[in-house]
Amino acid sequence: MKAAADRLLRGVGVSSGIAIGPAHVVDASALLAPEYAIPEAELEAEVQRFATAADKARRQVRKLKTKASGLPDSAAEEIGFLLDAHFAMLSGSRLMRGVEKRIRQDKVNAEAAVQAEITSIAQSFADMEDAYLAARIADVREVGQRLLRNLMQHKYQAFSFLPEGCIVLAEDLSPADTALMDPRRIAGFATMLGGPEGHTAIMARSLSLPAVLGTLGLLQGVQNGDTVVVDGIAGQVCVNPSPDVLDGYRRRRAELLAERAQLKSLRKLPAITRDGTSVTLNANLELPRELDGAIEVGASGVGLLRTEFLFMNREDLPDEDEQTEILTRIVTSMDGKPVTARTLDIGGEKIATALRGYFSEPTNPALGLRAIRLSLKEPKLLETQLAAMLRAGAHGNLRILLPMISSVAEVRRVREIMATVVRRLRRRGVKIAHPLPKLGIMIEIPGAALSADGLAPFCDFFAIGTNDLIQYTLAIDRGDEQVADLYDPLHPAVLRLVQFTTEAALRARIPVSICGEMAGDPRYTALLLGLGIRELSMAPNNLPLVKRRLRGLDLIEATRRARTIMDQTDRGRIAALLDDFNDAAA
Ligand code: PEP
Ligand code: MG
Repeated sequence: MKAAADRLLRGVGVSSGIAIGPAHVVDASALLAPEYAIPEAELEAEVQRFATAADKARRQVRKLKTKASGLPDSAAEEIGFLLDAHFAMLSGSRLMRGVEKRIRQDKVNAEAAVQAEITSIAQSFADMEDAYLAARIADVREVGQRLLRNLMQHKYQAFSFLPEGCIVLAEDLSPADTALMDPRRIAGFATMLGGPEGHTAIMARSLSLPAVLGTLGLLQGVQNGDTVVVDGIAGQVCVNPSPDVLDGYRRRRAELLAERAQLKSLRKLPAITRDGTSVTLNANLELPRELDGAIEVGASGVGLLRTEFLFMNREDLPDEDEQTEILTRIVTSMDGKPVTARTLDIGGEKIATALRGYFSEPTNPALGLRAIRLSLKEPKLLETQLAAMLRAGAHGNLRILLPMISSVAEVRRVREIMATVVRRLRRRGVKIAHPLPKLGIMIEIPGAALSADGLAPFCDFFAIGTNDLIQYTLAIDRGDEQVADLYDPLHPAVLRLVQFTTEAALRARIPVSICGEMAGDPRYTALLLGLGIRELSMAPNNLPLVKRRLRGLDLIEATRRARTIMDQTDRGRIAALLDDFNDAAA
């Protein structure tokens, strides 16, 4: 049965562009549970692992229910009942007790116990020949699959077999899932969960995949093969559009592609303002395969190489040689242009399978063991990364960037570890960068921004990470669609922290750049340059847009406007002053 025509759903548009294609609904129900014995001494830990997975499942169901409340009344009620039933099954039910009992009695892993208990409950419901209970079998299985998914966190999405040009629809996709999407095969994607600045969104932008996250009611009534339009600009998903509506989307898509082609002509033009100030436009890289795109748009260098890709979608950790080889390839491809490689920023929403053992389930992952905190707690991880960076630096221009720095002590500690690694490599007679790479820090914690003048003497450069800076300043989860409207780059507190950091860097005469998503949005270019920033790093696709904007602006006027803006306390007034300035230039 086809879904209703022209069903228009709203979400958060996170990646520009329009994709049209057949739907592929990610079927999370095809998981096969592994089965293995658990030694007596580890049984309680296995029960605990199950309890953690169940906890997570309850949080997921609660979140889905909150989302469902935004649907029209009847749909909200129907889905609400269903999710209440799922929640009940996950709380002290026969299912939960049965799984724990099986782990202890049969001495098996939690996945096998869940699978066995689901089969047994489904069988007993079927035996009762009751229509109501028969209908509940599907719910029991769905809850079981959710538990399995949470237990088998490392399940990779297999996108490679999908029909070319399809649109992936899913409840949720992790950044690691998204990294597996090949933009030559997949036209775009949409999910029910996820916010505008989470790493799934950033990954979508870097792969130039049109995407809409946080889409209400996405998976209701849509089937594989239905025609779907993902409009990443308007933040809309249209299921089975009528011919007229489809024509409209096709026309808009053609216009966007034409505009993109036209922007290519900017490639050879210098990135200078109308009054002659030159600005460095760098590329952010999530994955090495974006390198060609960065070179194609004429990036001056790589302003942020997120090295998390090295750790994603695998069961083991990359060793020094493997990391060196990949980094060297990137550094050599950039042909002498700077490559700013950031040490591992795993944690928060970005968990890599191979590092699962390093984390317990934190109460608040964004404030937990993330980024440099993990690297300093597990110095072997950091030593391996630094060694690889030092070795790759021998083949070009590499800078090292540290994420989530909050204190001078952390920078000092990294410098000590780096000195040890340098000595060890020299003893081994390995060729390393000479002079040693510059060592800079991300300013993305409000406390770091406020102490930027104290941090500057210990750093060779600053890179302002506005994504996290906004999240932590305003206490808004960057990946949560429910508070996406409160995530505000123009909040005066955010702007003051950017200004304070920039001025501290200028006083200390160290370079300062912005590499958060703000840097790649031409709406903010005049303001950021007006605040004194002269280096921006962004997804390669955005670089021509920002270059076009800065080539059209007068820096003296932009500086004057930035000053007026910094005198404001009202967010609406700030937005109006900025948009008026931009409109006048258009
Ligand atoms: C940032 O926080 O702005 C940033 C660039 O880092 P990430 O998005 O990887 O956290
Ligand atoms: Mg960050």
